[in-house]
Amino acid sequence: MRTGSKIILFLIQICAGFILISSYSFSQDVRVGLFWKNTANAFVFHCTEGKYQVFGDSMYTRTLNAGDLLYVGQVGDHISLMDSELQHGEFSRVEFRNSDSHCGFRLKLVDSLTEARNYSGRLELSLFFGSLQIINTLPMDDYIAGVVEAEGGPSAETEFYRAQAILCRSYAIKNWEKHMGEGYNLCDNIHCQVFKGISDENPSIPEAVLSTHGLVLVTQNYSLVPAIFHSNSGGETQRASDVWNSSEDYLQAVLDPFSEGQRSSRWEKSISLESWKNYLSGYTKIESFPDEDLMIKQEHRKKFFVLGEDSLRITDIRAAFNLKSTFFTMELKPDTVLIHGKGYGHGVGMSQEGAMEMARQGYSYSDILRFYFYNVRIMDISDLPASELPEEF
Ligand SMILES: [Zn+2]
Repeated sequence: MRTGSKIILFLIQICAGFILISSYSFSQDVRVGLFWKNTANAFVFHCTEGKYQVFGDSMYTRTLNAGDLLYVGQVGDHISLMDSELQHGEFSRVEFRNSDSHCGFRLKLVDSLTEARNYSGRLELSLFFGSLQIINTLPMDDYIAGVVEAEGGPSAETEFYRAQAILCRSYAIKNWEKHMGEGYNLCDNIHCQVFKGISDENPSIPEAVLSTHGLVLVTQNYSLVPAIFHSNSGGETQRASDVWNSSEDYLQAVLDPFSEGQRSSRWEKSISLESWKNYLSGYTKIESFPDEDLMIKQEHRKKFFVLGEDSLRITDIRAAFNLKSTFFTMELKPDTVLIHGKGYGHGVGMSQEGAMEMARQGYSYSDILRFYFYNVRIMDISDLPASELPEEF
């Protein structure tokens, strides 16, 4: 290569690097309420990386270096801090401030079977209606990677993680003000999205989050599509209106061969014929029907089980008998109903196991999302109209 070409190539590389850096410069911190609805009133704060300055009622108390521990507990209407030897006082508000973006800490609840969890960013403690409130403020991408790992597991393909990251980011922004009354954005429970600390099991998860930085899933009207997914569709997803009181166009039923043959694609369960007939009797008269007519058959997913002039919602039957999905067929056995089921979860939106299989077969995150969500587009958050974003964002 001639010297002139080398210089041009070098300049292109610098420019590409600059564009890459500047596109990542958009950063948004998210405030997450930890151990939501868990009566956590004592835990150990373990500084694992960098330095943390500890403030009690806005006054500096001490600095923690990597390896240092502090015991934190609620005592009446105060928060008590102590290390192995010394009591550091009681406060109504405590902050652990990180010195830079590389700092990390671990939390272990006392008297709890919950495993210790690793976090990044800052930690604030206060008492909210008499209970200890724990708020973690961290970069959005650290949060998304943690959610992707908690919701998708540590051993999938990168394109699956990219699809899941876009869904979880879209959900987070759409629900940005869900816990504003409590002083944070989202909780770490299934009530919002499961977050068990930062992703630390598979480096391809943070990479997938970084490579889709800022991307969200929206409808043709630029409305954010929240993360709606389930474990396995059983070969066919379900329209949202068949499960919930919602009729979003983007949640249609799709035939999903990718979910077949996966870990959760089939299940079986037996219930007694007597309990099934007792259940049905609570809703309709069954005396005139032979037992065989009481068996639900589904070649394709149905919303209702129709018996004579009555119809029962299959979602209610699923809940009553604690079934893995609504997609099942019943077989009459002596005194028993054998249920042959397909899939796991509500069946609406993206099938995670189907999406993982698509990724293994070489489909991209865009192919995966467009397969499970109808008529959607993938956009950068900065290109969305302000009217579609939460006010506080
Ligand atoms: Zn929540």
